[in-house]
Amino acid sequence: FTAPKRREEEESIQVFVRVRPLNHQEKTKHSYSILDCPGTREVVVKERNGSQVTKTFTFDRAFGPQSKQLEVYKAVVAPLLEKVIQGYNCTVFAYGQTGTGKTFTMEGERSETAVNWSQDPMAGIVPRALGQLFDELRAQNAEFTIRVSFLELYNEELYDLLAPVEGAKLKNLRMFEDPNKKNSITISGLEEVIVQSKHEVYQIMEKGSERRRTAATLMNASSSRSHTVLTVIVHIKESPMEGEDLLKIGKLNLVDLAGSENIGRSGAVDKRAREAGNINQSLLTLGRVITALVEHAPHIPYRESKLTRILKDSLGGTTKTSIIATVSPAHINTEETLSTLEYAHRAK
Ligand code: ADP
Ligand code: MG
Repeated sequence: FTAPKRREEEESIQVFVRVRPLNHQEKTKHSYSILDCPGTREVVVKERNGSQVTKTFTFDRAFGPQSKQLEVYKAVVAPLLEKVIQGYNCTVFAYGQTGTGKTFTMEGERSETAVNWSQDPMAGIVPRALGQLFDELRAQNAEFTIRVSFLELYNEELYDLLAPVEGAKLKNLRMFEDPNKKNSITISGLEEVIVQSKHEVYQIMEKGSERRRTAATLMNASSSRSHTVLTVIVHIKESPMEGEDLLKIGKLNLVDLAGSENIGRSGAVDKRAREAGNINQSLLTLGRVITALVEHAPHIPYRESKLTRILKDSLGGTTKTSIIATVSPAHINTEETLSTLEYAHRAK
């Protein structure tokens, strides 16, 4: 096993914004767009309450309403994938208000007309990342295995989206710290499926989404309040010399976060949400962990939520993290949009 070399000059956390188009409902309510993406990095907010107020936020990249799945993938994920192949751990988060395109960006959709799913223009990050992994490793003639796990975190309980549901009961998973594996957590019983080709990825995603719907029904819960974590683990065997094998292990976590609507403009739990007991510990802690990492704080509060405990070996240190904040352009969502943009900006 070779320790990856550290390159200090590279940013370890990158922040992106994606604005979705105005939707049908917003158009019928005559809501207009308050957002502009004039260059490649700025988001301009034009609030019109009496007088016009304009605020500009700058990110590593801003994707306007016409952006394509491929464009987002190339800018945000393709560079991380190279790192994963070199044996690093990387994480991509989709953060934003419910209905702004987190799942559209992470998983994508399937167009009726696409013949070959792996070339579907609507495919999101998950299938594209796995596709690129297979393509690159095959081109390198590498000896490798790719395993995938897919879990859901709801109310600080963990559920396996790839395990069979036994009866009508959902089994929640336990996690523990493994003294032999510094930094990384073990989740007992979590299914890790070996993926043989990029065509199998779609079946895995379908299975996971189906389970997610079943789980939401069984728990009488809204999926907007749960997080999903899809983890891709790559083992690559290299033989630099006769009779000597090196094993590189890289990991990519693709995280579709719970809706951010309960987090207020200050980054704390919104008063109404607190009163309703709607506190999403994992989402709040993630914000604190990222702030602590950005500020190089001496203590990073990983232990304060399940999500950050699970992702501890893939956040901070030599890892790479990208956050895609998704927003609606509609005037009726101004408060939430500003809240998301401010949250994302704090992560810079
Ligand atoms: P979220 O996961 O954040 O709740 P979704 O990904 O389910 O939101 O998106 C809500 C709706 O908006 C879906 O119907 C999706 O197809 C559409 N949508 C989201 N982002 C885009 C986009 N960038 N371009 C076109 N349609 C989008
Ligand atoms: Mg979603």
